[in-house]
Amino acid sequence: MNEEEPQKAVLLDTCLRNLQEAWLDLHCCNGTTHYPLKLMAQRFGGELTLRNALPRLRCRKCRGAPPFIALLETGLTDGKGRPRGWRLVLRSSGSPTTPPEQAAK
Ligand SMILES: [Zn+2]
Repeated sequence: MNEEEPQKAVLLDTCLRNLQEAWLDLHCCNGTTHYPLKLMAQRFGGELTLRNALPRLRCRKCRGAPPFIALLETGLTDGKGRPRGWRLVLRSSGSPTTPPEQAAK
């Protein structure tokens, strides 16, 4: 873990077409979903920045915004299912098992 983390703000302002090797790690009620940015660029357009693309992501099951989003350098794994490159958490707004409306009570 001595590698220097890429700057989150810089990545958020990067266009999708320049992040085509990267993947998103989404956590929601569906569990963990790995989503290639290449596909996202095809769907939303390569000119869109990551910052503007994130709000468009929806969980396939509940149609809500995934509470946890991380960026993975690559979709490749080390053979044990773990990502090979760096991983940067972009959004972490609580656990999907405890929705805010329930946690508030
Ligand atoms: Zn969901």
